Amino acid sequence: MKSDFLALAVPGVQKLSPYVTGKPIDELARELGIDPAQIVKLASNENPLGPSLKVLEAIRAELPELTRYPDGSGYVLKQKLSERFGLSPELITLGNGSNDIIDIVARAYLAPGLNAVFSAHAFAAYPICTQAVGAESRVVPAIDYGYDLDGLIKAIDDHTRVLFLANPNNPTGTWFGAEALEQFLSRVPAHVLVVLDEAYIEFSEPGELPNGLDYLDRYPNLLVSRTLCKAYGLAGLRVGYAASSAQIADVLNRVRQPFNVNSLALVAACAALDDTDYLAAGRRLNSAGMAQLEAGLRELGLAWIPSKGNFIAVDFGRDAAPINAGLLREGVIVRPIAGYGMPTFLRVSIGTEQENARFLEALSKVLASA
Ligand SMILES: *Cc1c(COP(=O)(O)O)cnc(C)c1O
Repeated sequence: MKSDFLALAVPGVQKLSPYVTGKPIDELARELGIDPAQIVKLASNENPLGPSLKVLEAIRAELPELTRYPDGSGYVLKQKLSERFGLSPELITLGNGSNDIIDIVARAYLAPGLNAVFSAHAFAAYPICTQAVGAESRVVPAIDYGYDLDGLIKAIDDHTRVLFLANPNNPTGTWFGAEALEQFLSRVPAHVLVVLDEAYIEFSEPGELPNGLDYLDRYPNLLVSRTLCKAYGLAGLRVGYAASSAQIADVLNRVRQPFNVNSLALVAACAALDDTDYLAAGRRLNSAGMAQLEAGLRELGLAWIPSKGNFIAVDFGRDAAPINAGLLREGVIVRPIAGYGMPTFLRVSIGTEQENARFLEALSKVLASA
């Protein structure tokens, strides 16, 4: 007799839907029968600059070592992060992207009978990692697509172990300031681990958003998660890190896979952290692109959620699926976010000036014919 292996899965997993990634360029090129070079992908919040030349050089130099296992402790990268951010190395946990950090936290602190609290329209990895270990997702409704910080606190109970918070949030781009964060942290019960996900922090101007690292001393239940996949341009290599108390870092390091960050990612991350010009250029390109998109959307009479990330959620006020389909026919890939409870929106990553222009042009064409 054949068993039902969906029914045999952990109950929380049965209720999950697979993470929807941005449509790959090659896939759409095959479907449309056109050259991949003609396609614009603004769907995965990737860095439009292309990789830093210093990163490419570091990777090339590391290639002859590929038969060796990576340094499982990530010594050199931790030293680099330590110098850059004034963190002692024992506070750092490295991840295969910051997605991995979220997963490690869930495996270390969540289990059946326990729960994680987070907002509606928050990053998809939070429910996936929570439910994969049999814990409950407690989803708090948002206010105008932003976080209801009071509501998040009210949702905490004795069985809450983790609270996920992204600043700015993906896919909405909404954010909160230093005062709100401080007030929030001071009210979270000490037994709840607050995961402050700062995947997009580098796109804001220094001081514009609170720097989670500044709060670690005062809040031993805080973990700040960062990534090199977005602003530093290493999405394909997968590398992120967490800063927390030494005790939490010790727990996470017991759970993570021993070689979770590969050797090319380790050297690339060091080179990327050194290339401050690349980071600055990315930030400039992002603010110019955000202004360009906002101006274009205004001209088209469209609404959007103001964003501090490298993406913007555009509201069409009606089912956005046909508009997405029209954009795909024009060779433009953006991200539908119906799965995030936002069926009238499309999320558009900020690209180069030409890519943004191509998107606006395609959008205007699609809207005119709809
Ligand atoms: C993209 C993203 C991440 C992590 O991405 P990695 O590529 O795994 O580093 C984490 N949190 C949010 C909110 C994101 O949007």
